[in-house]
Amino acid sequence: MSDHHDHDHAGAPGSPLPETDLRVRALESLLVEKGLVDPAALDALIDTYETKVGPRNGARVVARAWVDPAYKARLLEDASSAIAELGYMGRQGEDMVVLENTPKVHNLVVCTLCSCYPWPVLGLPPVWYKSAPYRSRAVLDPRGVLRECGLELPQDVEVRVWDSTSEVRYLVLPERPEETEGLSEEALAQLVTRDSMIGVATVTPPTRGSRR
Ligand code: FE
Repeated sequence: MSDHHDHDHAGAPGSPLPETDLRVRALESLLVEKGLVDPAALDALIDTYETKVGPRNGARVVARAWVDPAYKARLLEDASSAIAELGYMGRQGEDMVVLENTPKVHNLVVCTLCSCYPWPVLGLPPVWYKSAPYRSRAVLDPRGVLRECGLELPQDVEVRVWDSTSEVRYLVLPERPEETEGLSEEALAQLVTRDSMIGVATVTPPTRGSRR
């Protein structure tokens, strides 16, 4: 089966479910019925990506890059290998590219065709990432999308939009916030959100009083 999953289509007329959902359900029923997949194995696979693998993995990658310049250099040079150093690897993460945000460059990740996403470091994509409006508008009007996400970037910051494919998956390395010099790597990882690693947010410093 191709790694590049089905593209979204508009819901079938009169149907309460989008066409993609219907097709997936029909396919799953057929595979189980023919004995080609074990429903328990399927459930375990989904559970893994919903509850065990998630953005905390990516956050640890980001925090490591913030505290360890040599690791950051390896991450930008060969992201798949550097991410595997921390034990994160697997499907949809074989060919990773890490994009570094700087004071002058902000990176934003989208999959214009469907929902390609770096599973080993971010888990499963959020619903909005798979939505048609995000997929088209992230390219046509990235600043507008960011503004709606609450992120107003100065005009002198260049916005670069990266279109994921079945081959390459992107992870944004957000900027380390100010006033975090004293924080441990683990405390830094706690600050890193999923959205900041997709590029629709920045990482905000800890509020006073909650610093560790
Ligand atoms: Fe896709």
